[in-house]
Amino acid sequence: MQLLEVTARSGLVIRRMPDGNAERIVAMPFGMRAERLDGQVWNGGWYRIRAYFSGGYVAEGYSASAYLAPVTPAPEPTPSPVEAPAVPRLHPLTPPETARRHTEELHSGFARRLTHLLESCKRKGLKFKLFEAYRTPERQAYLFEQGRSRPGNIVTNADAWRSIHNYGLAADLILDIPGINPWETGTVEGVDYMACWKRMRRLADKAGLKTLSWDLPHVEMPGTSWQALAKADLPPGGGADWAANFDRMVRRFANPQVLDGPALHAALNLDQTATPRPARRVSDATPEGDGRALQPDAA
Ligand SMILES: [Zn+2]
Repeated sequence: MQLLEVTARSGLVIRRMPDGNAERIVAMPFGMRAERLDGQVWNGGWYRIRAYFSGGYVAEGYSASAYLAPVTPAPEPTPSPVEAPAVPRLHPLTPPETARRHTEELHSGFARRLTHLLESCKRKGLKFKLFEAYRTPERQAYLFEQGRSRPGNIVTNADAWRSIHNYGLAADLILDIPGINPWETGTVEGVDYMACWKRMRRLADKAGLKTLSWDLPHVEMPGTSWQALAKADLPPGGGADWAANFDRMVRRFANPQVLDGPALHAALNLDQTATPRPARRVSDATPEGDGRALQPDAA
């Protein structure tokens, strides 16, 4: 997979089909990054890409660098034989269909409350487990498409970066009972599962977590909002793993229309220790060039 950056100053239009007259989905701003989905050049000069929201086609430009340039991967940090600093853990990225359950990707303060909640449930005999911890903005966009551009029921009103999940400050729990739908809210064989959800949510209150009336599995850190988080108003004490993962997401799925990227980078560096601790990055770009003359499609 190749990571590309928009180098057209005026931005670049993503279209439904590889054709300058095809339906326009959205414009990617200058500097935004997108994944190229295959090595092919479509219809004489189009790349199939995935940006922060979904897939589409972009004109590659008159040369490989006219509209889009391959992103060069950051060099692997050379570990010093004298003092090897602790490297934050970065779990590999997963397809947007998959929920992630690595609690280290959550803000430490939130993760502590979540662990407390799961332990309280266990003590009270309430069988719940973590369904989703950190949700990538890519997955958020994927879920947002469901019931809109993709079949299925609408599952969220939040597009990428517009959910607290994308900042590692929310999680979803589900029932963990063999033979029972994990989202069961009715009464099955005399067991009132809605009552179980209500008890879990009361324990969440006690653990210092916020619940939402319209979203039973969801718990989140109180006192924040995605709007505040997007402007780098981050709760302190998130931890190095959380910061490294979040920083990776900000770089990878940058959306300047929502995120204050520079402020976030500054805030994340402050959150880590004084000594810079470069995270081991997933290599996600193999530079290659396709120089071709094409119809312009800059936004
Ligand atoms: Zn949720």
